[in-house]
Amino acid sequence: MSEKASDLAISIIANKLRVNTLRMIHRARASHIGSCFSAAEILACLYWDTLLINPMLPNDPSRDRFVLSKGHAAAILYSALSERGFFPVEDLESYCQDGTTLTGHVNNSVPGVEVSTGSLGHGLPVGCGLALAAKRDGSAWRTFVLVSDGELDEGSNWEAILFAPFHKLSNLVLIIDYNKIQSFGSVSEVLELNPLADKLRAFHWNVTELDGHDIPALRVALNVISAESDIPTAILAHTVKGKGVSFMEESLLWHYKSPSNEQFLAALKELEGRQ
Ligand SMILES: [Mg+2]
Repeated sequence: MSEKASDLAISIIANKLRVNTLRMIHRARASHIGSCFSAAEILACLYWDTLLINPMLPNDPSRDRFVLSKGHAAAILYSALSERGFFPVEDLESYCQDGTTLTGHVNNSVPGVEVSTGSLGHGLPVGCGLALAAKRDGSAWRTFVLVSDGELDEGSNWEAILFAPFHKLSNLVLIIDYNKIQSFGSVSEVLELNPLADKLRAFHWNVTELDGHDIPALRVALNVISAESDIPTAILAHTVKGKGVSFMEESLLWHYKSPSNEQFLAALKELEGRQ
């Protein structure tokens, strides 16, 4: 597949990432499958369309940077990196096994991973630092950060949201995986974020709202950075937790639960039926 894939090819990739993730989490008896599935199209668009990266030169100084701040969704990031060629797909079988580098939260010793994450609220502040460094160096590379909605309860995010427009970080894109469910309940029950777009605009961000599973819309929004803008961009991606498997969708249970053998086979059948 060429680096600039068609919308259909990216859709097939997103499904492949879900299938890999299902296998990894089932094998490891691990958690966070719902959190992975809501971000499948976002990661597929980033890695197969937006990011200027070279798997053969993972530390190329001119590469775009991506930070997965919702580090508990590690399985689908590792899946994307392996399918993109950063390391062998067979290595995914070691996910969460003893001695592996493919740990349950994102580990930067894995080729292609920029920053270890998992303690929430760190990715955007780090992203601000990366973007500021690129500006000061006069470098053209861009920084993309994917956060969860529940993670926005962390005050460090709001410091970064204040910081980025002040420093004119037009080379920074914040993507919010707005699946409306966090670890202990719905976002509206735990700590309401709405009107989230208005709040970001009030902090002087350029805000786009879209369906986070709409590949053509994501591709346009993720490539929005232009020389004309002098403020950062936020993409409010409305997503479905557990997207792709009917009995996992919009269910808090699948933030934690690992599929039984029976559920694994049912989920695999659904996902393979989408291809
Ligand atoms: Mg969430």
